[in-house]
Amino acid sequence: MPLSEFSLIDRYFTGHSRHRSDVALGIGDDCALLDPPLGQQLAVTLDTLIADVHFFANADPEGIGHKALAVNLSDLAAMGALPAWATLALTLPKIDEDWLAQFCRGLFALAEDRGVELVGGDTTHGPTTVITIQAMGFVPPGEALRRDGAKPGDVIYVTGTPGDAGLALAAAFGQATVAPEYRADVQDRLERPQPRIAQGLALRGVASAAIDVSDGLAQDLGHILERSGVGARLTVDRLPLSPALTASLKRDAARRMALTGGDDYELCFTVPSKKTTRLEKLAVAWRCRCTRIGVIEAEPGLRLVRANGSTFSLERLGYNHFG
Ligand code: ADP
Ligand code: MG
Repeated sequence: MPLSEFSLIDRYFTGHSRHRSDVALGIGDDCALLDPPLGQQLAVTLDTLIADVHFFANADPEGIGHKALAVNLSDLAAMGALPAWATLALTLPKIDEDWLAQFCRGLFALAEDRGVELVGGDTTHGPTTVITIQAMGFVPPGEALRRDGAKPGDVIYVTGTPGDAGLALAAAFGQATVAPEYRADVQDRLERPQPRIAQGLALRGVASAAIDVSDGLAQDLGHILERSGVGARLTVDRLPLSPALTASLKRDAARRMALTGGDDYELCFTVPSKKTTRLEKLAVAWRCRCTRIGVIEAEPGLRLVRANGSTFSLERLGYNHFG
């Protein structure tokens, strides 16, 4: 007999470890009851993943569970917030217990690893798989990393090696070929992004602006520039290209992928020049690269230049759902 909605919730979502003392009442009632810490702001974000729009319907379900939460934790990281709670709205065309078990394995492994508790949600039947996760975290008032604080003279940094997930996606569409020894690596970068939570927390009081790179570095940096009312000069020779990217694409194509490929979930942020020494000391302890890629300027617009000063041009900045 097929599972009812209620036994499905019980079987897959209720039984997980209740590990947070600030959850007064978790899954099972009409609402969760949560005790936010006194004196902190609640950072709230939500992202939806739709089958065959954001992930291939036949992709590894464990990866889908991981990524659905990871993209939300990445938003909290980009604000300098400490993740705490999540809710999940799941629409499924049918109950596939294998799929659900693997999806939950990916979701709860990341949740437990990052100290996040799933406190509620909704489960519905619909024509295609839609996964919406809302994540909540804490940040002291005035310490959140916003998009609107960049000032001329601030140095621009990016974590990790952007472009790897974009390469995996281009390969899936037959638009690029990944060097065989790196196939597993780049697939992992696409399916299991690691939210830069520790980095976001370390940037409190250091970064003047931050964003997570989900739609391409150039486009997402553009959001900081717009909201801050400034421009930037970015030196493309400084872009941290992974060995996978340089082995698979010619140098300029690799740079273009690093600038426009989506799904990186790295942090791009700006730091006032008097704090860059502090930042670079902090970043030594990070388990990812942290690279200085450019500088904020007063003149609006993003200027991409090569080391010799000549212009580097791009046809498009990044991903746009309606573009
Ligand atoms: P209601 O009818 O009040 O919306 P539901 O029957 O939808 O309640 O849900 C019962 C309980 O299970 C609630 O606590 C709800 O938050 C939780 N829940 C339902 N679906 C999910 C899900 N996909 N993930 C986590 N919790 C869920
Ligand atoms: Mg409901």
